[in-house]
Formats: sequence, structure tokens, C-alpha cells
Amino acid sequence: MRVTVDQSHCQGHALCEGMAPDVFETDDDDGRARVLVDVIPPDRESAVELAASSCPERAITILA
Ligand code: SF4
Repeated sequence: MRVTVDQSHCQGHALCEGMAPDVFETDDDDGRARVLVDVIPPDRESAVELAASSCPERAITILA
């Protein structure tokens, strides 16, 4: 599994970072979330799915 954050939609709520801090990080400069890993470890996939479904801006896209 891979995941992306649409920077044009992200509003920096940091919900994703709270749910999966090893995958998402809110940038100190622009306040938007970045993805820290290329491939999501299998044991973190459920946390990423929860973060994606919880993002108020629908900015997180999960790629197969
Ligand atoms: S929850 Fe969504 S809008 Fe908020 S920081 Fe994460 S990706 Fe951006």
C-alpha cells in the first residue's frame, strides 16, 4: 500500500499525524501533511485507512 496527500486540499488539521505519526508529518513551514514512507508497512495499513477516512478534507488517497 502507498498513500498520497493532496497538498491543494490539506488544511493541516494533523488528524492523520495523530493517528499514524510514523506515516504522516505536518510540515512546520506550510502546515500541510507529508507522507514519510514510500510503502506503508502492513501493520500500519489499518491506521492509514482510518486516517484517510477521517481526513475532513478528503486529502488522503490510498493507492494499491
Ligand atoms: S487530516 Fe487531512 S487535512 Fe488534516 S493534515 Fe492530515 S491530510 Fe491534511
